Amino acid sequence: EQLANPGVRQLRPYQAGKPITELERELGIKNIVKLASNENPLGISQKVKAALAEELNDLARYPDANGFYLKEKIAKKQGVEMNQITLGNGSNDVLELIARTFVNDSHEVIFSQHAFVVYPIVTQAIGATAVAVPAKQYGHDLDAMLAAISDKTRLIFIANPNNPTGTFLSAEALHDFLKQVPDNVLVVLDEAYTEFVPVAERSPSFAWVTEFPNLLVCRTFAKAYGLAGLRAGYTVSDARIADLLNRVRQPFNMNSLSLRAAEVALDDDEYLQQSVAINQAGMQQLVNFCEQRGLSYIPSYGNFLTIEVGDDAEQLYQELLQQGVIVRPVTGYQLPRHLRVSIGLPAENQAFIDAMVKLGR
Ligand code: PMP
Repeated sequence: EQLANPGVRQLRPYQAGKPITELERELGIKNIVKLASNENPLGISQKVKAALAEELNDLARYPDANGFYLKEKIAKKQGVEMNQITLGNGSNDVLELIARTFVNDSHEVIFSQHAFVVYPIVTQAIGATAVAVPAKQYGHDLDAMLAAISDKTRLIFIANPNNPTGTFLSAEALHDFLKQVPDNVLVVLDEAYTEFVPVAERSPSFAWVTEFPNLLVCRTFAKAYGLAGLRAGYTVSDARIADLLNRVRQPFNMNSLSLRAAEVALDDDEYLQQSVAINQAGMQQLVNFCEQRGLSYIPSYGNFLTIEVGDDAEQLYQELLQQGVIVRPVTGYQLPRHLRVSIGLPAENQAFIDAMVKLGR
């Protein structure tokens, strides 16, 4: 303990659940429904699966350290240059890389009160000071975040939509905010759930990178693209920032399978549309349930719904588990009265609803 960096000593490990098979064994239940990690309930795309089978033949070779083909695909699809892209082993890897490249222990890092857990982890791991700004109606209070900027601020994390609240900032609000952030403060706009947002409401974030050289936009293949288990993410930034990130990045941080899978997933529009449609339907199913039962929820732009269940949220989580449904307590996000439920297939959502009704909710 004493040997660890001071920031590290204050950290608690990321709360990962037990493997499903282990839980099934312990509880004596088959087919546990997991609605806990905002994964894609469709399973992997068949096109990706076929490409992976081919890729298996090349696993004795190192992956392409530059991820040339994936960057080429992303550049074309998103209208950016290849030298603006930095790839990561999931977007978590990219978030950490950004912190390690630009932040040191004399700096402050700003994020919102109910922010994604990885932001405090990557901040404190390098000994920087985390500044959590109180939320406004569960979402980012951009004015308060601007007011929190000091001489020591180096980085601001914003997730849009936010996890675990599902709140969303309009393009206008974000653009206004970016105009007011000083040039020497980097802004990480984490758009992990952006594919679930109606196209007309999304920010032109990649175009903003040209207007705001201090902006980094992060994306992942773990959600709408269904590659959570493979770990694939990236950030688009000014080329000078990407150059610095690529100096720090481990050369083989994306493996051959995740590179190939991401290339194919990016072109699989049919799968993406299906993911979005299944999410929309499932969201409606859960929202209807909440409204029928008089449960408050935070309207969500993501692939999850965070529901206010009361002071016994942790206990309800345990009771749902006993019923074979895993959801996510969000106590660690300063939401002690809520549970976050990922959107599943219709039958999985129904299993959650049935368990709730059975438990008298
Ligand atoms: N950002 C946010 C806001 C997230 O919710 C998540 C996933 N939980 C990530 C990033 C990380 O995604 P990845 O699997 O790409 O590391």
